[in-house]
Amino acid sequence: MSEKIIMLADARAPSLPVPDALEAPTGLLSDALARPLHDLRISVTDRCNFRCVYCMPKEVFDKDYAYLPHASLLSFEEITRVAALFVAHGVEKLRLTGGEPLLRKNIEGLIAQLRALRTPSGRPLDLTLTTNGSLLARKAQALKDAGLDRVTVSLDALDDAVFRRMNDVDFAVSDVLDGMAAAHAVGLGPIKVNMVVKGGMNDDQILPMARHFKDTPYILRFIEYMDVGASNGWNMDEVVPSGEVVRRISAEMPLVPVSANYAGETAARWRYQDGQGEIGLISSVTQAFCQDCSRIRLSTEGKLYTCLFATRGHDLRALMREGRSDAELSSAIAQLWRKRADRYSETRTIKTAGLERSGATGQKRIEMSYIGG
Ligand code: SAM
Ligand code: SF4
Ligand code: SF4
Repeated sequence: MSEKIIMLADARAPSLPVPDALEAPTGLLSDALARPLHDLRISVTDRCNFRCVYCMPKEVFDKDYAYLPHASLLSFEEITRVAALFVAHGVEKLRLTGGEPLLRKNIEGLIAQLRALRTPSGRPLDLTLTTNGSLLARKAQALKDAGLDRVTVSLDALDDAVFRRMNDVDFAVSDVLDGMAAAHAVGLGPIKVNMVVKGGMNDDQILPMARHFKDTPYILRFIEYMDVGASNGWNMDEVVPSGEVVRRISAEMPLVPVSANYAGETAARWRYQDGQGEIGLISSVTQAFCQDCSRIRLSTEGKLYTCLFATRGHDLRALMREGRSDAELSSAIAQLWRKRADRYSETRTIKTAGLERSGATGQKRIEMSYIGG
């Protein structure tokens, strides 16, 4: 890697403008492309105990790396306040992510606070968390007791040597499998298993993973390696298209497509013809799903990102810490969503991806570990 990136946080975030005319939330916000707002992803830490080669490569995220200082992080009270405002605007699903969310001290305390929120019609939220599974065996019961509904666990290989090369901290497959089993045992299911496929690195694990998780309570999802952030050295040649994943699995275990559970579902579903389970395919590179994207992301330090590939966040923390009212924050959020026109994956070309990564546009994308997946 030729370029050393020191800055993780987005220092260019403009503060979020508060409109003069305040408005009450209706629960029915639509963006500039008529997409509703349904899903809030909350990054609770920018730190991680793994160094996955496609996310936090060791050469960049080394001991000199400038992580966010504790005072920059949103407190649990601030996160819950923001989440409540989003829920009033129509958000029904909250996902905690990071970095590794289980590294955040007393994460179960935050989960308990979020659990108490209700939609305008009085329903509880769908509350989930994405984790690398390393601390799951230890934490599963506490997470369940705090009110978490489900977990998604990332696992990129079954072969120990391949997995250790992917996480780059020598973490064993069996420990993640133990974490998943603990989560399943306490009822944090149905558990989804995310496998990022990086060509030449772990694509030989597609079939072993499919065989292992077929006919189990776990739903395996294959994710195309994405050009997020600015430090993973992404190259289109290393993307294994979902179509190829389906082809390889189908040759041994025939698959048939299944219709989506709901509009905006990120994973295309396929089930085994023999009725023994299903898989998901998240094809962010080869089959963009921007047209139904109803997700917004809150960074660890309180900036809002209307797209995973955004180069700029909008500083909600600044508004909170200067003492703005809920009505002001809520109106600012409404205005931000109404203007949203992001559809990066639909407009991505190899050329533009290359330009932005090299900084030719003068703007670097924020990292996945900062904004959450
Ligand atoms: N540390 C947790 C984990 O790994 O599950 C949560 C945060 S991680 C950023 C969320 C998800 O993003 C993981 O499933 C991870 O595999 C995925 N991810 C990270 N970098 C990616 C990339 N370049 N392309 C596709 N998926 C990526
Ligand atoms: Fe950590 Fe998750 Fe990124 Fe891997 S994908 S480095 S586990 S944040
Ligand atoms: Fe949503 Fe942006 Fe991803 Fe498109 S590229 S699906 S708008 S996050």
